[in-house]
Amino acid sequence: MSSGPRIVLATGNLHKVAELEPLLEGAQVSGAPPGFDPEETGVTLLQNAWIKAAALRGEVDDDALVLADDSGLVVHALGGRPGVFSARYAGPDATFADNCRRLLEELEGVEDRSAAFVCVLVALGGDGRMLVSTGSCSGTIAPAMRGAGGFGYDPLFLPEGDERSMAQMTQGEKAAISHRGRATRRMAALLGLG
Ligand code: IMP
Repeated sequence: MSSGPRIVLATGNLHKVAELEPLLEGAQVSGAPPGFDPEETGVTLLQNAWIKAAALRGEVDDDALVLADDSGLVVHALGGRPGVFSARYAGPDATFADNCRRLLEELEGVEDRSAAFVCVLVALGGDGRMLVSTGSCSGTIAPAMRGAGGFGYDPLFLPEGDERSMAQMTQGEKAAISHRGRATRRMAALLGLG
C-alpha cells in the first residue's frame, strides 16, 4: 500500500472516482463518506468544486487532503449550455440518457456541433492550502449515441482527432485526452505526486 499523502475525493460519482484514482498514483486515495452530496449552488464550475471541497474539509482529518471535481459540457451553438448545469440539463432527476436525449433534441438540424468538456479540480489541505487545476477537451457532438463505456455525455462526445465517441474508448484512452485526465495530471504535479 502507498505511503504517500492521503487524498479523500469529494464526489459520490463512482465513474469519477474510477477515473481519478489511477491518475493519483503515489497517494492513498479514498472516496467521500456515504451520503456525501452537498448542494451545488454555485454558478461556475470553480465555485461548485470549491463548495464540494469545503463541505468535505469539515468531515475529514487535517492530515488528509480533500479533492473535488466539478465538470461539464460546453456546447458552442447553445451559448455554452449545459455547462455548470450539465448534470441537471433534462431536469433535477435526469439520468445520463435523459440528458443525452435532450442534447440531441436541442441540436436537431444544427450544423455547428462544436463542444468542449471542462473540468475544474480544487484541493484543500487541512492547513488551509488551496490548489486549483483545470483541463479541457475539445470535440463535436455526434448525431446519435455510440458506445457503452464512460458516463454522462460520453456516448455523444467525439474528441478532436478521433472518430470514436468517448464511450467507445477504454478508461486509459479517455484519461489520456480527457478534461479530467488533463486536470488531474496537473493537480498531481502540483502535489508533487509520482
Ligand atoms: P458534476 O458532478 O456536478 O460535476 O456534474 C458533471 C456532469 O457533467 C455529469 O453528470 C455529466 O453529465 C457531465 N460530465 C462531466 N464529466 C464528464 C465526462 O467525463 N463524460 C461525460 N459527461 C461528463
